[in-house]
Amino acid sequence: MQLRLPSSVSEAQRCLADGAVPIGGATLVWAGWQRDGFPEQAVSLRDLPEANTVGPEELGGAVRLHRVDATVPEALHRAASGVGTGAVRRAATVGGNIVGSTLRCLLPAALVLDARATVLTADGVYETDLAELLAKRHVLLALRWRTPLASGYRKLDGEAGGPPPLVAAVAVHADGDAPGTVRVAVRVGYEVFSESTPYRTDAEQVLRSLAAAGSAALPAPAQDALRREVTDVLARAVV
Ligand SMILES: Cc1cc2nc3c(=O)[nH]c(=O)nc-3n(C[C@H](O)[C@H](O)[C@H](O)COP(=O)(O)OP(=O)(O)OC[C@H]3O[C@@H](n4cnc5c(N)ncnc54)[C@H](O)[C@@H]3O)c2cc1C
Repeated sequence: MQLRLPSSVSEAQRCLADGAVPIGGATLVWAGWQRDGFPEQAVSLRDLPEANTVGPEELGGAVRLHRVDATVPEALHRAASGVGTGAVRRAATVGGNIVGSTLRCLLPAALVLDARATVLTADGVYETDLAELLAKRHVLLALRWRTPLASGYRKLDGEAGGPPPLVAAVAVHADGDAPGTVRVAVRVGYEVFSESTPYRTDAEQVLRSLAAAGSAALPAPAQDALRREVTDVLARAVV
């Protein structure tokens, strides 16, 4: 296998046009490749500056999870720090997690940040939403969002060999100078429920409105986790 390491977007596009398979830290693909055979070419974005940014409003697709620190909003920071083991986080990347894994612990955090994805195709670079990113399994160059007033992320303990642990993420976004919207995302099994509702100071009002929008159908432990996270993030949204 030839591993290509483009350092410009146009070079990366050529790699895709040549049929190179995107690769992050290879934490997921390696075992399969050893079993089924390696592709002729793979392309890693680790030398591409556009895919390596870590900022308050952006995160590159080639950034390894252990580099996702408190520069990004709390929901995303906590999501990345809760993935697998230290060894996994030192190798696995943001793109490999959100686009390439089944658990995708970063996805609920990206959803509550209302993140947009900058994607790379053989034809060009463009911006799209998370739904299209996942449906078309585009190559993720970077995620971008607007800084929320407050955000949070809670991952419950899972049982070894059991279903994926429950995750609840919440963010409060500003509308002008005041809190405007509460966004929530809850992962139950491999499914992610996400919704938004106008901001209210009273957590119970927010939860009632989310229940009417569908969260009432979530299992009781998911509703409990959502309640705790909404209450906590709302309390931090206005200082
Ligand atoms: C022991 C262990 C524990 C784990 N625990 C968790 C957990 O708690 N939560 C969780 O969410 N995940 C967990 N994972 C999965 C982990 O998130 C993935 O292994 C990792 O995110 C994949 O990233 P990678 O960079 O190694 O991807 P790779 O293995 O390199 O690639 C995986 C797939 O993603 C694609 N890909 C890679 N980069 C990009 C990109 N920039 N854009 C689009 N597609 C891309 C590849 O083409 C491939 O199809 C665990 C994995 C292990 C091994």
